[in-house]
Amino acid sequence: MLQDSYGRDIHDLRISVTDRCNFRCVYCKSADPRNYSPHHNLLTWEEFLRLARIMAGLGIRKIRVTGGEPLLRDGIIDFLARLSEIEGINDLAVTTNGYLLTEKAGEMARAGVRRVNVSMDSARPEKFAAISRTPGSFERVLRGVDAALEAGLGPVKINVVLVRGFNEGEILGFAKLAREKNLVVRFIEFMPLDADHAWNRARVVTAEEIFGAIDPVFPLVELPRHEASETALRFGFADGKGEIGIVAPVSMPFCGQCSRIRVTADGKLRTCLFSLAEHNVGRVMRSGASDAEVQKYIERLVYHKEPGHRINEPDFVQPSRTMVYIGG
Ligand code: SF4
Repeated sequence: MLQDSYGRDIHDLRISVTDRCNFRCVYCKSADPRNYSPHHNLLTWEEFLRLARIMAGLGIRKIRVTGGEPLLRDGIIDFLARLSEIEGINDLAVTTNGYLLTEKAGEMARAGVRRVNVSMDSARPEKFAAISRTPGSFERVLRGVDAALEAGLGPVKINVVLVRGFNEGEILGFAKLAREKNLVVRFIEFMPLDADHAWNRARVVTAEEIFGAIDPVFPLVELPRHEASETALRFGFADGKGEIGIVAPVSMPFCGQCSRIRVTADGKLRTCLFSLAEHNVGRVMRSGASDAEVQKYIERLVYHKEPGHRINEPDFVQPSRTMVYIGG
């Protein structure tokens, strides 16, 4: 099992397969194609698969595929199918903006994808379209969510990053959506990984505030975590369907149980979401290194995984790579 110097078992890999996206979200640099990495810098499907096999050999069990928008990249379904066939990988999930889910949900399920998370900033159609700068996107994403439920990719989780002054007024709207469609809505505290470096603590809507906004209206009951390294606090509704998750990396950090590492679309290994250093495993693979040499390289890096983020420390430095280029 891959372990770091703090004794944490690392069995969770997040792979960003592209920095391209079909949305043009107002707050996101990926909205401008000039910011895309040159294609030759992106790992090929074969390279991603080789890396995933090497990682599975080291004890990685869960893989989450992210982007940019992963469903945009040609060959994604075949890639997902081959990922799910890798020995040792027993959980395959995808994070998407949901726009292409209607077309792809069935194929994803047949390819072996078990779960899907859909990122949404607003539960109001007109605002959603304005944020993504994509007309009709809200309705299309909701149809995609329905398609994912029909394809058995449930429980479908909706990821909502709450930013004060932007969408904190939508907490109850999203809670209603969770109840009406029997979804898991996960509210995520705003993290300092934004493109504009506009993050400050005052803009963070905390776990306590989120709970306080929902519970008086829709009483919540706490649910146990599926596993210790799960990032979300889980709550069911006392009177019915749906679930609320609260991911609170700022007000209630969970780094002590972290089991995650990440690989970016251009082949950089990040041992923490907030790593200030990146490691070019893609170049190591392209340099002719054997699988055993790549394994050793990864084991060494993971052993020195950071204890946690330093968001609450006076010496915190925001990483230069922003969320869209990390993939979540
Ligand atoms: S901030 Fe880093 S150490 Fe903490 S949970 Fe996230 S990836 Fe793990």
